[in-house]
Amino acid sequence: MPLDLVQEAWEKSATEHVDMAVQCQLSSHDGGEHYGLFSDTGEYGTATWLRWRERAEAELVALPDCPVVATGSDGEACCLFDGHAEHHTWEAVKNARS
Ligand SMILES: [Zn+2]
Ligand SMILES: [Zn+2]
Repeated sequence: MPLDLVQEAWEKSATEHVDMAVQCQLSSHDGGEHYGLFSDTGEYGTATWLRWRERAEAELVALPDCPVVATGSDGEACCLFDGHAEHHTWEAVKNARS
């Protein structure tokens, strides 16, 4: 689906309740921008993310995947985007286990 169609569909739905519809994927952080995965079916190596701030309208952005992979034998990939703030998703999993 072309991105502008996705955006249109999104804007027709409850934009004001975006923080309830899509959960921020970043580990807990104070304020700033929130990112929720909207679709990972875009071009190879990219995903479509919803980006929003408190009390501001959300926008759709296409971002490259985070290239940082966990060290060690499992080599788990991060589910976030390149240049994200906070922890990689595999770090959060490790912290939860310990
Ligand atoms: Zn957030
Ligand atoms: Zn990452």
